[in-house]
Amino acid sequence: MTKDDERGETMEKNLLEVKDVGLIYQSKFGETEAIKNLNLEVKEGEFIAIVGPSGCGKTTLLSILSGILKTTSGIVYVNGKNIQDSNSYIGYMFQRDELFEWRAVWQNIILGLEIKKQIGDGQKEYAKQLIEKYGLSDFINKKPRELSGGMRQRVALIRTLVLNPQILLLDEPFSALDFQTRLTVCDDVHNIIKNEKKTAVLVTHDISEAISMADRVVVLTNRPATVKKVFDIQIEGDTPLKRRESPKFSVVFNDIWKELVK
Ligand code: ADP
Ligand code: MG
Repeated sequence: MTKDDERGETMEKNLLEVKDVGLIYQSKFGETEAIKNLNLEVKEGEFIAIVGPSGCGKTTLLSILSGILKTTSGIVYVNGKNIQDSNSYIGYMFQRDELFEWRAVWQNIILGLEIKKQIGDGQKEYAKQLIEKYGLSDFINKKPRELSGGMRQRVALIRTLVLNPQILLLDEPFSALDFQTRLTVCDDVHNIIKNEKKTAVLVTHDISEAISMADRVVVLTNRPATVKKVFDIQIEGDTPLKRRESPKFSVVFNDIWKELVK
């Protein structure tokens, strides 16, 4: 067996590979270089958090990972295939939950299926399973405004999961919530993502949130964003709240904080 074979056997599969990606926005006022030479690998089942200063290019990076925005240079691979030629479905969760107020919870959850014209019995069944499993059964006929902020985010997450995404992208999904709610919703979302064995990339400017949820935290530079440092997070506790209680938490926080402001 060669060295390469051995490596291949022990290494987990990369679901996502970002190779030397650059992005320059062109507008009539000139060019903005948002991302430069960015490299990143995400393994199947991994939870990655990306932190970086405001305006550094985090949302731009997620738009590239979703396939919506084309890179200026470099390539993104999903399952070894150029994302532009891939038909993998990638889920996206935003800062605001983007629920439609005039639709009841059930209708919001099946919205994506309706749009994709995939509303078969199997899919409906899966939607019902998720609703039951994650405690939304009593709310399916309610309008979003009748739900708490945390519950709304759970509906938004389930709406995305119903489409069975290969990767889940989350862009500061908790920043509209107050601090107390944020802690519990963080736990909730983390639990659902791990339970459903999804690969996730979370963008946040909140270091604590990143450390409490992720397997690895990627620190980006100021714009144009590139990877400054990657931290492997090894803190005991299988939920974000338990991790926060660990004495190691503040040590890791300080390490990342120093890297971010350096
Ligand atoms: P972040 O999410 O980290 O706050 P963004 O990815 O939203 O940062 O933006 C990165 C940079 O690119 C910012 O300077 C922003 O003004 C600029 N930018 C974002 N979107 C566009 C666009 N559509 N056209 C031109 N510039 C943009
Ligand atoms: Mg942003």
